[in-house]
Amino acid sequence: MREIGHFIGGKHVAGTSGRTSNVYNPATGEVQATVALASVDELRAAVENAKAAQPKWAATNPQRRARVFFKFVELLNQNMDELATLLSSEHGKTVEDSKGDIIRGLEVCEFVCGIPHLQKGEFTEGAGPAIDMYSIRQPVGVGAGITPFNFPGMIPMWMFAPAIACGNAFILKPSERDPSLPIRLAELMIEAGLPAGILNVVNGDKAAVDAILTDPDIAAVSFVGSTPIARYVYGTAAMNGKRAQCFGGAKNHMIIMPDADMDQAVNALMGAGYGSAGERCMAVSVAVPVGEETANRLVEKLVPKIESLRIGPYTDEKADMGPLVTKDAYNRVNGLIDRGVEEGAKLVVDGRGFKLQGYEDGYFVGGTLFDHVKPEMDIYKTEIFGPVLSVVRAKNYEDALELPMKHEYGNGVAIYTRDGDAARDFASRINIGMIGVNVPIPVPLAYHSFGGWKASSFGDLNQHGTDSIKFWTRTKTITARWPSGIKDGAEFVMPTMK
Ligand code: NAD
Repeated sequence: MREIGHFIGGKHVAGTSGRTSNVYNPATGEVQATVALASVDELRAAVENAKAAQPKWAATNPQRRARVFFKFVELLNQNMDELATLLSSEHGKTVEDSKGDIIRGLEVCEFVCGIPHLQKGEFTEGAGPAIDMYSIRQPVGVGAGITPFNFPGMIPMWMFAPAIACGNAFILKPSERDPSLPIRLAELMIEAGLPAGILNVVNGDKAAVDAILTDPDIAAVSFVGSTPIARYVYGTAAMNGKRAQCFGGAKNHMIIMPDADMDQAVNALMGAGYGSAGERCMAVSVAVPVGEETANRLVEKLVPKIESLRIGPYTDEKADMGPLVTKDAYNRVNGLIDRGVEEGAKLVVDGRGFKLQGYEDGYFVGGTLFDHVKPEMDIYKTEIFGPVLSVVRAKNYEDALELPMKHEYGNGVAIYTRDGDAARDFASRINIGMIGVNVPIPVPLAYHSFGGWKASSFGDLNQHGTDSIKFWTRTKTITARWPSGIKDGAEFVMPTMK
C-alpha cells in the first residue's frame, strides 16, 4: 500500500506519529493509499525548517522570487495531464474538471509573477519640514494554509502563491482525503527553484490544525473549508494572536427572471448544479424562478437534462460528473435527500440508488431535483454539497431577492435576466460577496479577490487579488528627517501639521 507522508525542508518525510488515514478511489470505494497524520512534533519540525529558510528568501530580490513562479507556471502546464489525473484519482471529479481546478490556481501563480510591482510601498516626499514618510510591505514570516478536499490544486495555490511571492515561508495542511496533488505541487516548486524549507506540506487532521493554531512561530493562517471549522479556526487563531482569513460553506441561489433566456439558464444550472457532483463552494444549489409560468418552464426543461447526465469514473472522458469523495459524503447526501422527502418537498428526479455497472461500490449519487422547496426546510437551510438542486418558487422579484438575503450563507449568487435595471438593482442590494449576472459561478479571476459574506467568511481580507498581498504582508511606515531639518531644543507638544 502506498504511504503518503509529509514534504518538509524540500524532502519527502515519512510520518512518525503512528496515526494514518485511508485515501480512497471514490469510483471504486477501494483504499489506494494511506496518509500520515502529523503530530505536534512533526508540525514543529516543519515550522523550524520554515523559520530557518525564511529570512534569506525574504531578502531575495522580488524579481528573483517572481522567476520561481514563472518557471512553476511552465512546469504546471508541462505536467498538466499527470497532475489532473492524480487529482481526479483521489477526488473523483473528471480529469477535464481537475484541469480547471489546477488552472485556476495556476492563474494565481501568474498573478504573483507581478510581485515586484504588487509589493511596492508608498512614499511621500515632504510630509513635514524636511520629513519624508514611506510605507513598506514586509512578509509576516511563517504562514500556514489549511485547505478543503474539493479543490486540492486551486485552493493551496490561492494561499501559497501570494504568501511565498511576498517573501514568507509556508506550511500547507491539505485535506487528508486527497493529499497527493499538494505534495506534487511542492516538488514542482522546488524544481522551479524555490529554496528548501519555504514550502512545506504537513498532512494531518484536527491535531495538525490545532498545532498550527497554537504554534508561536506561525504569524498568519488562511483556512478554507466548512463553516463550523472556519469559525473555530478563526476564533482560535485570533486568540493565539494570529492574523486569520477563514472561508466557509455556501448555499448559492440563482434567480431566473421571467425574461431570461430559458435555455441559457437551464444549461447554466446544469453545469453549476451538477458539475463536480455539486462539490463546489460556488455550486448553485437553489434555483429561484420568478412566477409560476417561469417555474413550470424551468422544471420542464431541467428534468430531461438531469435524467440524461452522464455519470462515470474519472477515467471516462465523456462523463459530466463523477462520484462523491467518500462513503461519508455519500451517506450524508442520500440522508439529506431522504430528509427532503420527509419534509414534503417534491422529489422530481431521484438520484438515490444510482448504480454504475462495474463500479457498484463507488460513491455515485445521481442528479437529483426537488421542486416546491420552502425556506423552512432543512434541505434549503443546509449546504448539501452533492448533485442536488432545489427549486424554490418565488411570486415576484422582491420575494426572490429576499431568499438569498435572509440565508445564513453569502458566498455567491446569480441572476438570469435581460433586464439591466433588475440586474443592477440586484447587484447593488444583495448582501453576498460574489454576484453573477448571467454567469452561474461567478468566481473572480486571480487579479480580483475571492470571498463571501455572512457565514461564508470570517476575517476581513479575501483570497488572491491585491487583498492577498495585504494579508501576507505587514505594513511598516517610516518617518525620516535628517539632521539638517531638525530644530534645536526638545519639543513637548504633540507634533501636528497645525
Ligand atoms: P472541512 O471543514 O471538513 O475540512 C477543511 C479542512 O479542515 C481540512 O484540511 C480538514 O483536515 C480540517 N478539519 C476538519 N475537521 C477539523 C476539525 N474538527 N478541527 C480542525 N480542522 C479540521 O471541509 P471539506 O469537507 O474538506 O470541504 C468542503 C467544505 O469547504 C464545504 O463546506 C465548502 O463549501 C467549503 N469550501 C468553501 C470555499 C470558500 O471559498 N468559501 C471553497 C471551497 C470549499
